[in-house]
Amino acid sequence: MTNFISIDCHAHYEPKILNANGILKRMKEHGIEKTCLMSAVTKEPIYKKSDFLMGIQRTFLQNSILWYIAKKLDKGFHKNKGQWDPWYRKFLFKGESYEIVQKPDNKSVFEVAEKHPDFFYSWIFLNPSINEWKKEFLTWQSHSKSIGIKLHPFWHRYSLEKAVEVAKFSEKYNLPIMIHLGFDKIDNVREFLNCCRKNIIIFSHAGFPFYKWIWPLIKKHKNCYVDFSSHHVSKKIIEDCVDALGPDRCLYGTDDPYGDDNAGIIIKNWIKNLNINDKEKRLILSQNSKKILKKITYIK
Ligand SMILES: [Zn+2]
Repeated sequence: MTNFISIDCHAHYEPKILNANGILKRMKEHGIEKTCLMSAVTKEPIYKKSDFLMGIQRTFLQNSILWYIAKKLDKGFHKNKGQWDPWYRKFLFKGESYEIVQKPDNKSVFEVAEKHPDFFYSWIFLNPSINEWKKEFLTWQSHSKSIGIKLHPFWHRYSLEKAVEVAKFSEKYNLPIMIHLGFDKIDNVREFLNCCRKNIIIFSHAGFPFYKWIWPLIKKHKNCYVDFSSHHVSKKIIEDCVDALGPDRCLYGTDDPYGDDNAGIIIKNWIKNLNINDKEKRLILSQNSKKILKKITYIK
């Protein structure tokens, strides 16, 4: 089988689950040449979600009525500000809630990227609902390892208007924005894209939690992409997404270390088995990332 160079555009540095040597070892095992890291999202690492429950969630989000039930459930998990409380776990006698990191730890991520410059790059993870976000951005934007901005309205619970503020402020620096959407309104996503035509936008996890409902919007904006990371995507979602957007708009990722330990291999195999040619598979596995995340360099 053809060997493909792979760039993981979406992984987290969460040393409580996997330290730098662990990531490097896994990259070698999974045939990943470069990894783009970002800060952890909770103070204590979140538990491994079961494949079964993730499958149910994906099914809900593909259905126009069940989607709203998923939105309601999500609201219930975020009742207390700054905390994620998956209350259903109480039925499994696992009642812990998790403190959400409001000020992402960019420093540690940049330090680890500096330490292993041939393998790691770093996203600047910003939370525009805290005051110092501009200062944080300016601290890291010119760093040799910075490849873009990460926004997470899902964990940080803010509206897309705040994401527009970041996009406008950072526009002249020409850094792509990776965004993990929350349960917003599609009209707000449309508005966000209309306001940010000059920015390159990557929607995490194939556009979770909207998926196919926003693919036509993404397709319409030539600077928009999706990543195929985490257990938020499946073989079917990847197939449908590539059909809808074309391979030139999709990027390979893992969301390590939060999902399956073998996510890197599993997702890569789904991409390798798509009904597209090798050149198109290369676009998804590395070339699109290399094009957008300009600092990434590699041999060959
Ligand atoms: Zn992630």
